[in-house]
Amino acid sequence: MKRTPPARRRAQTAAQRGTRRVPLAILGGGMTGLAAGWASGLPVFEAEAAPGGICSSYYLRPGKPGRLNHPPRDGEAYRFEIGGGHWIFGGDTGVLRLMQRLAPAKKYERISSVFFHEQNLYVPYPLQNHLRCFGREFRSKALVEILTSPKASFKTMAEWLTQSFGPTLTTAFFGPFHELYTAGLWKSIAPQDPYKSPIDAGLVIRGASDSTPPMGYNTTFLYPLAGLNALAQGLARGCDVHYGKRAARIDANNQTVVFQDGSQVKFESLISTLPLNRMIEMTELKLEEPPDPYTSVLVLNIGGVRGERCPPDHWLYVPSSRAGFHRVGFYSNVDASFLPRSAREPANRVSIYVERAYPGGQKPSPEEIRDYSGATWRELQQWGYLKDLEALDPTWIDVAYTWSWPGSKWRGAALRALESRDIQMVGRYARWTFQGIADSIRDGLYVGAANRP
Ligand SMILES: Cc1cc2nc3c(=O)[nH]c(=O)nc-3n(C[C@H](O)[C@H](O)[C@H](O)COP(=O)(O)OP(=O)(O)OC[C@H]3O[C@@H](n4cnc5c(N)ncnc54)[C@H](O)[C@@H]3O)c2cc1C
Repeated sequence: MKRTPPARRRAQTAAQRGTRRVPLAILGGGMTGLAAGWASGLPVFEAEAAPGGICSSYYLRPGKPGRLNHPPRDGEAYRFEIGGGHWIFGGDTGVLRLMQRLAPAKKYERISSVFFHEQNLYVPYPLQNHLRCFGREFRSKALVEILTSPKASFKTMAEWLTQSFGPTLTTAFFGPFHELYTAGLWKSIAPQDPYKSPIDAGLVIRGASDSTPPMGYNTTFLYPLAGLNALAQGLARGCDVHYGKRAARIDANNQTVVFQDGSQVKFESLISTLPLNRMIEMTELKLEEPPDPYTSVLVLNIGGVRGERCPPDHWLYVPSSRAGFHRVGFYSNVDASFLPRSAREPANRVSIYVERAYPGGQKPSPEEIRDYSGATWRELQQWGYLKDLEALDPTWIDVAYTWSWPGSKWRGAALRALESRDIQMVGRYARWTFQGIADSIRDGLYVGAANRP
């Protein structure tokens, strides 16, 4: 009889000891996984030590390194978010009620602009409804193009934007902004989220000479009074979450998740909120279609003395910047509670998040991140947003925005392949779709309730 070597036998026994059998398990304790765990009571396996995924807050004392998970007793810390400002848009009534119960939230009216720094020009978002902010010649050209451009068929995001907004606005804003936002992909990927840039001919005409009402999917938004963590923690309290459980491999044939710490879970069925591309890699399922692309985002959280030209906006879309970022948001313009307690009343500080996109997974080195961080803060100082720096803290989000090649069938094939192995994918990254927190919670609740033992 063939004998197992002692070292291997020991490893096997250890692995067997760490094997848990569950009829159903949930992977990922972000908003989607927590909502699924809350509705089903099923165990949630989360890689990190805290719930919420990229929708969670942390705290930094001015001038001191080291993230704090909870606000210090004296309140003397900036509240930042892992994934940059996360504002809660839309949402079904039931989901909103649950959110308000778990973490009471306040409603805000969006203030947002496009900022052309070379001209020091702020144009309210969406800029097609505010053409009066531009010079006469630009305005008439853009107006005629939007209203008369022929609507032919299009394949790529670049074609769709040019046809919708015309060459003048595309050259000035939509093109350079999407070049940064999609890390250069906009000329080859399929159009996405047309509802984010709506065209209403009546408002476009009116906005060329007069003010127009706010438009779009995010004219108002909610934010929890006690910070975004309050929502994640509220959901987590009703869940059986196992922290520090990073899935490293999934044996789809033997229905086993192997975690980085060597423990395993044998499941009959799995609900996964992990990104679709990572699930295909981890399960080693073979697909004929090439994977759809994604972009990563480096979020830079910054706090300091407020500059004199700091605008009142909640966030700005930036079509060009020397450092390469495309969006700048102002936590403290949404709510002063993001600032250290002693800085709230004099309102002499500002807290900012800055987003820069990279081709999927191409993480810069620590030196490059340091150089980029320095360049960003200097640029914001030049723009008059910040005087002195008190906090500067980067976070890398590997799968941040998901895209599709024109006509791609990869997403459907990937979801079907996993479904055939009893792995249900749910949430923004798992289903490779654009959606916010409220819809992610809705989908988690729905899948959780449907799978309740
Ligand atoms: C830059 C940016 C800004 C955004 N701004 C907004 C906004 O303002 N408003 C809004 O509503 N939405 C916003 N979103 C979208 C929002 O972040 C998502 O809707 C939400 O995070 C989806 O939650 P999720 O649980 O599906 O995913 P995630 O938050 O990504 O959660 C996945 C969880 O899985 C865990 N995990 C990952 N790998 C493993 C593994 N191998 N094993 C175990 N666990 C693992 C992660 O740690 C994480 O907790 C933004 C997204 C980005 C990228």
